[in-house]
Amino acid sequence: MKLAAILGQERVVDALRRSIAANRVAHAYLFEGPNGCGRRTTALALVQALFCGAPVAGDACGTCPSCRKLAAGHHPDLHLLEPLPDKRDIAIEQVRELQQVLSLRPYEASRKACLIYPAERMTVGAANSLLKTLEEPPGHAVIILLAAQTDLLLPTVRSRCQHLRFSPLDDRTVAALLEAQGMDRELAAKLAPLAQGSLERARDIDGEEDARRRSALLATLRAATPGRIATIFDASEELSGNREETTTLFDLLLSLIRDLLLLRTSGANGVVNHPLLEQLTAEAARFTPASMMETLELALETRRAVQGNVNPKLALDRFLLRYGSLRTN
Ligand SMILES: [Zn+2]
Repeated sequence: MKLAAILGQERVVDALRRSIAANRVAHAYLFEGPNGCGRRTTALALVQALFCGAPVAGDACGTCPSCRKLAAGHHPDLHLLEPLPDKRDIAIEQVRELQQVLSLRPYEASRKACLIYPAERMTVGAANSLLKTLEEPPGHAVIILLAAQTDLLLPTVRSRCQHLRFSPLDDRTVAALLEAQGMDRELAAKLAPLAQGSLERARDIDGEEDARRRSALLATLRAATPGRIATIFDASEELSGNREETTTLFDLLLSLIRDLLLLRTSGANGVVNHPLLEQLTAEAARFTPASMMETLELALETRRAVQGNVNPKLALDRFLLRYGSLRTN
């Protein structure tokens, strides 16, 4: 993607384009911002502009072989440093391997580039090992660190990077991005506020515990039938907690209902709870599009009430009862 096509981060994009055009690109950048606000997309667009064979006004051309390779997701001079699949952290060995790779000449581009994501997952050893490379990357490599919480980074790492702050996306930008992904305009406008400034908010929540809660929550929704009041009250007793915990529960619930609404109205494109697709599809079929929309509004309204001063358990009881009655079959 070109830098010019990034939505909602004009200040950062303008600064990057100016430094590219003036040939004053930093060795190391720190992109700070909430998950899902476009840091990774912007970092890749920056790399594309730097690698491009025919750049225009500090941006990539979008059509040269280098631009096409990056768009296809593979370029031999771009390296990603992230935790290994079954690991939480970025280990020192990974940083050493990266340093080894960066010390070689670029294959095709005029320089190499590396994205480190999430930078706050580097162990202290890994971060310390990276310091020297951040100061003087070999062969003009550009290193881009992406972080949501820069206070978790070593101050010595922070101080060696040019720090750029990304803002959460506004609802209009989220709606435009959803629409660009093929969602119906009206639905996109309705769903945008759920993203809370982050297109990938739901995708970024990970971990087994979270997956288990989502799955349990969906099972509770599926079992919520108006005739089975005792079951509903038991489930709600089990799930609800204090105000904060119940608000978090409603965030998960909203992500499930958002998926149900998508499945009921526009298909599986954009669904975030992939592991539950089968159960979600079956549940979505039990609603009409209108009652699905009503369910979403009910969930939003209940979440607001829980944040206010309504008893969290009572709010969840009431939600589950009404959820069951909104289902048409
Ligand atoms: Zn190009």
